[in-house]
Amino acid sequence: MAFLIVTGLLLVSMIIYSAETGLRMSQRYTPLIDAAMEIKLEAALGHLLLEETLHKERPGRLEDVLTHLNQADWYALAMLEGGTNAEGTFIPLDDPLLRQYIVDVRHELVLFKEDIKLHWRNTMILQTKSETDKVFDATFNSFIEKADIVETHLQQLIKQAERRFIVVQIILAVGAMGVVMWLGLLFRRFIKAQNRALELLQSEIQRRLLIEQTLREQATTDTLTGLLNRRSMLEILQDELNRAHRLGSPFSVVMFDIDLFKAVNDTFGHEAGDTVLTTIATRVTSRLRDVDSFARWGGEEFLLLLPGTDLQGALALAETCREIIADSPMPGVGVVTASFGVADYRHEKSVTALIRRADSALYDAKNKGRNRVEASITDASPAAL
Ligand code: GH3
Ligand code: MG
Ligand code: MG
Repeated sequence: MAFLIVTGLLLVSMIIYSAETGLRMSQRYTPLIDAAMEIKLEAALGHLLLEETLHKERPGRLEDVLTHLNQADWYALAMLEGGTNAEGTFIPLDDPLLRQYIVDVRHELVLFKEDIKLHWRNTMILQTKSETDKVFDATFNSFIEKADIVETHLQQLIKQAERRFIVVQIILAVGAMGVVMWLGLLFRRFIKAQNRALELLQSEIQRRLLIEQTLREQATTDTLTGLLNRRSMLEILQDELNRAHRLGSPFSVVMFDIDLFKAVNDTFGHEAGDTVLTTIATRVTSRLRDVDSFARWGGEEFLLLLPGTDLQGALALAETCREIIADSPMPGVGVVTASFGVADYRHEKSVTALIRRADSALYDAKNKGRNRVEASITDASPAAL
């Protein structure tokens, strides 16, 4: 925007400058050219009138002849000192050489006037044809030569001024183009810098979004298995419990624990133990629906939340999970089993109460020899829950 304003201002000032300078040149020089021509014209008219009168071709008075010469002198003086007449306003010339030429012209005019008077006296009064004729012509010619010099020099002066004007115009145009190009470059650099800043900002936003996402994932998931952690599972359980309270929809939980896992660690090492944990997580996940939630409850203990699933459905799924864990050996460890405790929602008021039932079913499974699924048997009244 600023770039356009500066360019516009530059162009407008250039146009104003050109128009103004052109006008000033024309105002200054047009009347001066007229004046230079008028000097010769008036002198020639005076000369002609004198000739015609002296040759009796027309009646004339010496005053009329001199008036023409005075008129010529007025124009010469106007070129030196300035002046105004019906034809315009004359601005004084400041070129010293040209001023000197005009002074010479005026001097010639004085001589010419003296010659005219002499010539007039000899011819009209004394009626004698004398040498003054020749002298008179020579003076006139000399005057015309001087006046020509003035005119020629004035024209040269005008040409010089025009040339100067053109040079200034070219310099201005080149300068303006330079400034415009420079501003264009600045503008481009500014836009580039802005784009760069925008790109940086965008990548910074992306980076932060990624960090935020990672942090959120870290806060809700277990780093080893990628399953939900206990904290986020508790939130989901609470939501499901609230939903079940409101809608009376069934859901169940399955808690399972790896059997004799300590021995696995002790025999095959902690890393092998970790692999068992991740393998079990993968195997069980493959059997779940999108709506189910699966968490590492802690250590080698896991918890499943199965929305819309009654006790029978939950027991069936737990059995499937038990099988896929026990039926094929774990890499580098061999067969590993797990015990399962299942509890369906029985209008418990808290998540803890429901989990406690699943936990005690799991305890039953352990007690009954491990690698098995046990359901939570409750005959308790709602008050006991
Ligand atoms: P039980 O059948 O009665 O559950 O026996 P157990 O050996 O599995 O139970 P115990 O509570 O004695 O041992 C659990 C072991 O699980 C002990 C601990 O080192 C191991 N464990 C807990 N978390 C991790 C883990 O992140 N990685 C590995 N490799 N082991 C773990
Ligand atoms: Mg265990
Ligand atoms: Mg345990």
